[in-house]
Amino acid sequence: TNSAPEFDTVIHRRKTRPVKVGDVTIGGGYPVVVQSMINEDTLDIDGSVAAIRRLHEIGCEIVRVTVPSMAHAKAMAEIKDKLAKTYKPVPLVADVHHNGMKIALEVAKHVDKVRINPGLYVFEKPKANRTKYTQAEFDEIGEKIRETLEPLVISLREQGKAMRIGVNHGSLAERMLFTYGDTPEGMVESAIEFIRICESLDFKNLVISLKASRVPVMLAAYRLMVKRMDELGMDYPLHLGVTEAGDGEYGRIKSTAGIATLLAEGIGDTIRVSLTEAPEKEIPVCYSILQALGLRKTMVEYVACPSCGRTLFNLEEVLHQVREATKHLTGLDIAVMGCIVNGPGEMADADYGYVGKQAGYIALYRGREEIKRVPQDNGVEELINLIKADGRWVDP
Ligand code: SF4
Repeated sequence: TNSAPEFDTVIHRRKTRPVKVGDVTIGGGYPVVVQSMINEDTLDIDGSVAAIRRLHEIGCEIVRVTVPSMAHAKAMAEIKDKLAKTYKPVPLVADVHHNGMKIALEVAKHVDKVRINPGLYVFEKPKANRTKYTQAEFDEIGEKIRETLEPLVISLREQGKAMRIGVNHGSLAERMLFTYGDTPEGMVESAIEFIRICESLDFKNLVISLKASRVPVMLAAYRLMVKRMDELGMDYPLHLGVTEAGDGEYGRIKSTAGIATLLAEGIGDTIRVSLTEAPEKEIPVCYSILQALGLRKTMVEYVACPSCGRTLFNLEEVLHQVREATKHLTGLDIAVMGCIVNGPGEMADADYGYVGKQAGYIALYRGREEIKRVPQDNGVEELINLIKADGRWVDP
């Protein structure tokens, strides 16, 4: 029957624990969170505040900043302050790029989440023969990581803040590389090693990421992570992303191929699209992915036919006019169809339809019902009037 799960049209998200980052919650059934990262130097306080604000205003719900030195960590205090005074508090994440605990400890006071990269915690003595590490060697190294990480974990735990264990395919530690190879398994074991240390310190405000620049690697890593977490009874939310996706159309498609594939399987609680472009460009891509999958509805959903020999008006032009006139309305589905040959069903149950009727005339639909026929020249205006008459219009 069509109620069998494989025919279900709703995405069933994997159950995860809620992790708070400022006033935003990742996981726990909350909407998939959109995030990005500024590329200003964190020492440029005004520039960073302006960049964080610009991103937040267009829907970036969590903003990440890079913190490569103690001076940068201290600058975060000013950035946080200035944001609160001149704008509002924005959930902030600090990327700490090496295992310098002093920097992480300082910045943990000023941000809501600290991202660490397990690949940078290297305590092994280099092995010339590339042999696998034994359990005893893992335990010994694990103990050193634990000692290093403990103050940060305790600080975050006591402040009720979060940590992202952000594994990158390109920067696995030698013990993982020699033992598991440059593989999704190595990425997953790297994350689990750090999760176990955090759990041993009674800290579970964790978000996990396993990014790679190759989509198949990234997909395999997240899927394996979910499988391993299920086996181990872990329910940490996942941060999805494809690293170094590049720019332009292919960068967007590559990011979408990775992120959307997993989201469609119910995997993923927060996303970042990494483009080699201004970070503002990433946010609409994130929202479009979420909207296309039916996970979040933040825009008008336009349904339009591709046009063909039967099309009775310039579809591309009309779609553009309809979009310009209505794009500020949220929660509506609007269809623009060249003709009605295949019936209103083709309009995918849109709330409103603008449909070619006969030369020079279009029909306006509300749901599946034809409301009126109007000259095509007045089509967009009449569509707006219909939406207004239904009380579903708001001024831009
Ligand atoms: Fe062609 Fe009509 Fe289908 Fe549009 S809706 S593609 S105009 S047949």
